[in-house]
Amino acid sequence: MNAFTKLTLLDLTSLRPQIAHSTIKLSSFAAASLLHKRYFARSTDTESLSGWACFEKGGPLVKSEFPLTKFGDDSIDLDIICCGICGTDIHCIDSGWGPTNYPMVAGHEIIGRVTRVGKNVKHLEVGDRAGVGCQCGSCKKCTNCHNNKENICEDRAVWTFNDYWDNGDKTYGGFADKWRGEKEFAFKIPDKLSSVDASSILCGGVTTFAPLKRYGVGAGSKVAVLGLGGIGHFGVQWAKAMGAEVVAYDVVPEKAKEAKLLGCDDYVLVRNPKEAEPHYNSFTHILATKILNKNWDEYFKMLKKNGTFIVCDIPEVPLSGINALDMAAKQINIAGTFIGAPSDIEESLSFAAERGIRTWVNEFPMNKVNEAIKYVREGKPKYRAVLVN
Ligand SMILES: [Zn+2]
Ligand SMILES: [Zn+2]
Repeated sequence: MNAFTKLTLLDLTSLRPQIAHSTIKLSSFAAASLLHKRYFARSTDTESLSGWACFEKGGPLVKSEFPLTKFGDDSIDLDIICCGICGTDIHCIDSGWGPTNYPMVAGHEIIGRVTRVGKNVKHLEVGDRAGVGCQCGSCKKCTNCHNNKENICEDRAVWTFNDYWDNGDKTYGGFADKWRGEKEFAFKIPDKLSSVDASSILCGGVTTFAPLKRYGVGAGSKVAVLGLGGIGHFGVQWAKAMGAEVVAYDVVPEKAKEAKLLGCDDYVLVRNPKEAEPHYNSFTHILATKILNKNWDEYFKMLKKNGTFIVCDIPEVPLSGINALDMAAKQINIAGTFIGAPSDIEESLSFAAERGIRTWVNEFPMNKVNEAIKYVREGKPKYRAVLVN
């Protein structure tokens, strides 16, 4: 998902300037290559990762070396097998939600083979497959952290890239050969799931799994999934497997066939009244992975009384156009949701393994990352793109 909020990015630059590296401005691919070598040469740590780094807003990714953070008793080392590409990676490459701290190695749907574990690590062994999503740390002290809601940690979450570990080292994501981080946010991958299937569940998948579970979707529910894309294709599969009746909404007529293959009971071409009207006042939940702003009248017509509208899309403009009277009269709930907690990620992986939920994937070799990102920018993946080492 859309994991890094504007708040988080502002937090990075405003609250921790003392450890922020100076911004590096580059104008070309070649200059980026030269500069990354100098950047790495400053490090005295011989343990390094080789990652595809972005050095400027919207710039190309350049293979570069960076130091790994210090290994500790809670650490895990991974040789990265594959990493999904998510919309958040592109937003951060583009500084779309706020200034990115370049150079940055994106990628937060990481699957890797465990190569080393610290002495406190009990749930993973060398040789296991492990996954890491967008979050790789939290304060471990606040009420939310103590209640398995680390994704909404009250104090400070650590993000898998474009952030800093507590020791001040920079975090680097999964468009790389290696990852090192803390045990709490590295999850064992069930044997029944392939690495490419599992990777996108770590962010795109759990982003829809967690709210469907949180807001009680099950037998007797009827769920509209707005947007049949990278996140929506998970949403329809989860909701169906949870026992709900599911209707997908999108603007592309050809997606009707794919909706059926994904298990949807119906498909509605957005703004086609003949297809939309039969479903008015029938949905218990709307899972909005694509929000058409100012379309709230239509969304409220779709919901049953006491229905819940789940916001999974994070447009770069404020949402507007809500009619408060309609909202009150139908007692509608509008719910935010933010990735998933570690327990949600573990549950979504095992649910996918047991219920046969699979990611529709376009695979790319890791060294074709720039082509893969262009493919994602053009909205071409059916439905997720995954980079494979
Ligand atoms: Zn994501
Ligand atoms: Zn916390």
